[in-house]
Amino acid sequence: MIPPGGTIGVLGGGQLGRMLAQAATRLGYRVHVYEPQANGPAGAVAHAETNAAYDDVAALTAFARGCDVVTYEFENVPAAPLRAIASLTRLHPHWSVLATAQNRSREKNWLRANGFPHAAFAEVAAGADLAAGAREVGLPCVVKTADFGYDGKGQLKVRSEADLPAATARFAGQPVVIEQFVDFACEISVVVARSEKAAVRVFPVAENIHTNHILEFSIVPARVAPAVRAAAEKLARLVAEKINLVGVLGVEFFVTPDGHVLVNELAPRPHNSGHWTIDACVTSQFEQQVRAVCGLPLGAVELTAPAVVMVNLLGDAWRDRAPDWSTLLAQPQVKLHLYGKAEPRPGRKMGHFTVTARDADMALELARKYQARL
Ligand code: AMP
Repeated sequence: MIPPGGTIGVLGGGQLGRMLAQAATRLGYRVHVYEPQANGPAGAVAHAETNAAYDDVAALTAFARGCDVVTYEFENVPAAPLRAIASLTRLHPHWSVLATAQNRSREKNWLRANGFPHAAFAEVAAGADLAAGAREVGLPCVVKTADFGYDGKGQLKVRSEADLPAATARFAGQPVVIEQFVDFACEISVVVARSEKAAVRVFPVAENIHTNHILEFSIVPARVAPAVRAAAEKLARLVAEKINLVGVLGVEFFVTPDGHVLVNELAPRPHNSGHWTIDACVTSQFEQQVRAVCGLPLGAVELTAPAVVMVNLLGDAWRDRAPDWSTLLAQPQVKLHLYGKAEPRPGRKMGHFTVTARDADMALELARKYQARL
């Protein structure tokens, strides 16, 4: 166990690292952020920050030597430096977990090999025949770059044969994964935590609404049948066990119209759809990550409100100046979180707010109302 007072190293300096650092600091830990770019959200609330490239061996070694444990908040940290860190100090989750989750080919193959339900897919190597892969999967389908994809970046829906030449041109020279298009009834996700001693806690299931491939609302409890909720919880627990997780991991699912649950994506870090846990759960996903990687007992995951909705605040809402927060801040059941990012760009996650209410429909209605007023 790493008792409070120890130093937690965090690879990546975005909002997930910021909220992790806030949770760690509250428990009396010191936080050292490692992030290539200066002036990020996490560094601003950490005890120490190193701004250096992920392949800067000297900087990474000095960082790792000063930390009792290192974790990560960013999915695209290259695996090689992670392996180097693991030889110098504790690293949680294991580097192989990130290596699996950060590449869609490896992720899909892992899901298939371990018997998890997922959308049918084909892998197409760089320079190979994309159209043949798409026909194998069947149209419509979604073409995704194997590496470095998030928030719908690097993906394209192919509706019919007519779209194939453009898709081939766009992904020329890149390895891709082609997935069957899932005409889902809804999307849900689960954050699961697992400790070194193999204790597992599964946070309540969130229902997610994406707009332009970016999460817009997370609704808790998810408005799905109890059997769907139970299936998602069970799959998340199994993922954590089979991947040998120590830390927290987000699992995204598609729910099909006939009530089947397919795993879409794994993210071995706190998840955007779990931000509501700060305001409406006994333990937040960030505190849970601290507990898991430091060897503390995992915290309880019960809701502290009947229902909660999280709304992402994207840079689009800024236009020439920051939105007027006064209406939002005047609501007793609303909590506002801003990440301290200086430059609002369209699609950039600048903050979020949560609304609690007596049921999910009411929370969503209020969330939409307050969002529209910004
Ligand atoms: P991803 O980056 O893979 O999580 O994709 C972002 C979003 O795009 C998902 O949350 C879905 O809304 C949509 N999407 C991705 N893959 C598919 C698919 N195979 N079928 C339908 N929608 C998809």
